[in-house]
Amino acid sequence: MKQDTKIVTAGRKAKWTNGVVNPSVTRASTVVFNTVDEMNNALKNRYNQKMVYGRRGTTTAFAFSDAMTELEGGAGCALYPSGTAAITNAIISFVEAGDHILMVDSAYEPTRDYCDKILAKMGIETTYYDPLIGAGIDALIRPNTRIVFLESPGSITMEVQDVPTIAKIAHQHDCIVMLDNTWGAGINFKPFDYGVDISVQAATKYIVGHSDVMLGTATATEKYWPQLRDNSYLMGQCTSPDDLYLALRGIRTIGVRLKQHQKSALKVANWLKERPEVDTILHPAFESCPGHEFFKRDFSGSNGLFSFTLNCGNRKALTAFLDSLTHFKMGYSWGGFESLVLGITSVDSIRSATKWTAKFPLIRLHIGLEDVDDLIADLAQAFEHFNDNL
Ligand SMILES: *Cc1c(COP(=O)(O)O)cnc(C)c1O
Repeated sequence: MKQDTKIVTAGRKAKWTNGVVNPSVTRASTVVFNTVDEMNNALKNRYNQKMVYGRRGTTTAFAFSDAMTELEGGAGCALYPSGTAAITNAIISFVEAGDHILMVDSAYEPTRDYCDKILAKMGIETTYYDPLIGAGIDALIRPNTRIVFLESPGSITMEVQDVPTIAKIAHQHDCIVMLDNTWGAGINFKPFDYGVDISVQAATKYIVGHSDVMLGTATATEKYWPQLRDNSYLMGQCTSPDDLYLALRGIRTIGVRLKQHQKSALKVANWLKERPEVDTILHPAFESCPGHEFFKRDFSGSNGLFSFTLNCGNRKALTAFLDSLTHFKMGYSWGGFESLVLGITSVDSIRSATKWTAKFPLIRLHIGLEDVDDLIADLAQAFEHFNDNL
């Protein structure tokens, strides 16, 4: 089955839909049984999508987990109330005091904070590594290294990683390979084809796609699925069926949404490339993006999120640029239908293994589903305010 067909059918088993098109919203804490036999049978089949208790998931959760596993791959999908919860719970499910993890330097900032502020005090040490390290990861692996964590492309700075090379070496040392696959969305990058053991997503972004739900997912291979699933349950992780319904609805249009985000973002990035104020386009589909060759080799497409650096400017000019935009609102997220912008002057503060050398601000854009010419006109007038305030 081709991907666009899977997007339409994923998770729509008859037992979840009850004869209509979409899986139903099953709100429950208590699941009730009439006989001892029924209750025992449910408990025995708790890993077999039988409802036992609300925290273990209802049919809506089973439908969404099925859909994610069909789209992204793996043996199963654990659900969490946010992408951050998915990352932190996936990591803690596989480490103990005395262990060491390798974390990519371009990781999402809260992932770094978890390592530095939570794992550290539990006696789990983190070493950050250059996202472009490739085979060089070998030299950083210690006898107690348990997890090699990747995020590709990286948050804000967009480096694309050589996932299969890093995964191969990590496996030679019996390490677990985890990937934050939020940008690939399980659509444009298929983690399990490249050696990833556990793929985590902020479904908050493109899966939900409408900026109205927080949700996290972690899909895992056969080998790691039982431990991930059991730990998720032991840690009390559960999600709202109403939110899962919205995420299932989001999935149905993710194919066409991503294609449109991609098309408009490429047009905006190509326009920016010709602007005199712009230094480097950090879009994985552009040669100027570090790791572009791995994007070309491993991804089937891009989306609406990319960054660029400026070759001039200061805080005042950047503020004038951001304040003058009308279609681009400032926001700490992406993946919805709307365009967003972030201006960043302190990339250095979220890097430790690598040096950020750009002298001028970085701007991250999420290109939404508005008419792309309106977006370009908005950016053009913002550059006028920028230049007036230099
Ligand atoms: C947003 C984001 C997260 C965290 O997701 P939340 O649902 O906001 O907790 C994790 N990783 C990446 C790459 C993200 O962009």
